Amino acid sequence: MTDTATFAGLDPVTLGDLLRVAGLPGFDRWQDQIKRTGGCADPIHLRGWVIHKDKVTGETLHRYSTENEPGGRLRVACGNRRASRCPACAWTYAGDTYHLIRAGLAGDPDKDIPGTVRDHPRVFATFTAPSFGPVHNRPDRGVCRCGTRHAADDTALGTALDPTTYDYAGAVLFNNHAGELWMRTINRLRREIAKRAGLTQRELAETCRLSYGKVAEFQKRGAVHFHAVIRLDGPDGAGSAPPSWATTDLLTDAIHAAATHPYSRVSVPAAGDQSARTFQWGRQLDVRPVKAFGDGSDLTEQAVASYVAKYATKAAENTGTPDTAVYCRSCRGTGRSRRYDRAGSVLGRCATCRGTGLGEDLARLDVPEHARRLMAACIQLQPLYPDRQLARWAHMLGFRGHFSSKSRRYSTTLGALRQARADFRASQERAALGLDEREPDTVLVLAGWQYAGHGHTPGESALAASIARDIQINRETAREALRDQLALEGAAA
Ligand SMILES: [Zn+2]
Ligand SMILES: [Zn+2]
Ligand SMILES: [Zn+2]
Repeated sequence: MTDTATFAGLDPVTLGDLLRVAGLPGFDRWQDQIKRTGGCADPIHLRGWVIHKDKVTGETLHRYSTENEPGGRLRVACGNRRASRCPACAWTYAGDTYHLIRAGLAGDPDKDIPGTVRDHPRVFATFTAPSFGPVHNRPDRGVCRCGTRHAADDTALGTALDPTTYDYAGAVLFNNHAGELWMRTINRLRREIAKRAGLTQRELAETCRLSYGKVAEFQKRGAVHFHAVIRLDGPDGAGSAPPSWATTDLLTDAIHAAATHPYSRVSVPAAGDQSARTFQWGRQLDVRPVKAFGDGSDLTEQAVASYVAKYATKAAENTGTPDTAVYCRSCRGTGRSRRYDRAGSVLGRCATCRGTGLGEDLARLDVPEHARRLMAACIQLQPLYPDRQLARWAHMLGFRGHFSSKSRRYSTTLGALRQARADFRASQERAALGLDEREPDTVLVLAGWQYAGHGHTPGESALAASIARDIQINRETAREALRDQLALEGAAA
């Protein structure tokens, strides 16, 4: 149990509830559940059961039901990536991203990534969005074009100098196509590498593999950009040595060439009042080598992994966008729905949203004006580019990709990390029962689950927050110990 001093500042109502919770018969098991969620601030409650049966004899091998859990419920983590919604789950996500990027940089024997990836050419690259009009900023010379010296936390930063001329439509269309632009650039990069090595694409695939892990981030101005760790491996991925011609310099040079090549562009056709557009990366392409241990001049693995993880959770919150979609679900944001009469079906105005395509009143949302305008642009563009699902992704300012993704061979996936965590307890139980020793297809698993609400009472909430803090402190201590150990290895090498 956590030190009681942690709860000293609580109001009497919360403290009273906390004492009530702590006195309940199932409290130990409740604490156990919340520990497993990492101290989630808004856990999902489930009711249900799982039965393991022997397929041949029909004998029940193991039966689990939430009936014996506190309140008859199992609590699972909400998994929200936003720190403002659930600090514990956002922190877990940041930790997962950290391990994902780090495993791809330094190796992780548990996940079949050998430490020899450290000797592979690796860079940390940032691909930015182009300009959609001047915004308030803090230039090196100090004074913004508006004549003001903005403070670092000024909410005007990143917003349009002139909202009447800013290209909001272009900004959200860019976000919407950023994933395609990335894929085209990666394809081009393979060609640029092959060209420099004097190989055909096919020959390249036989000797050298390109792999990457990347995260998307919103800049203050609401434009998506990407941070990526890009690595060259041998033909079998992380476990095989890259050919001798594969150097960090060659990789860096190839990335610069690929990012500016005409192939690394995405065209958006004209529609309605929108003229045709061609998107390419912004001019601020940054490519830096990643070293295993810093000599002060280069990025270290640790710095890159921490940086990427930090941005993975910050991404959506940077611009103050809402947590959930804002489009009208009954018409999928089109503002039009199919009506049936004797003559057949006709397209008419959606009755739910009265043709606006919105499920929320944008004017009433508690978001900054710049984000509101970008969301409004998504809704206005929806009928012009119906395939792009701009209304559906309006709350993400048109961006429809994942905040972190990787090529197949980069390292373990976030899903695998989550699964490993979720399975831990189940596997402990199965192992205790000897179920793991049985052939997998001799066991029949039956299960039934039901949603039974979410959240905490005030007292539970205070307890969960303290559990989250304890877990965080423990993991940070472990991470620091690892860092010290790596530093020692580095000094010895
Ligand atoms: Zn949570
Ligand atoms: Zn300004
Ligand atoms: Zn509608």
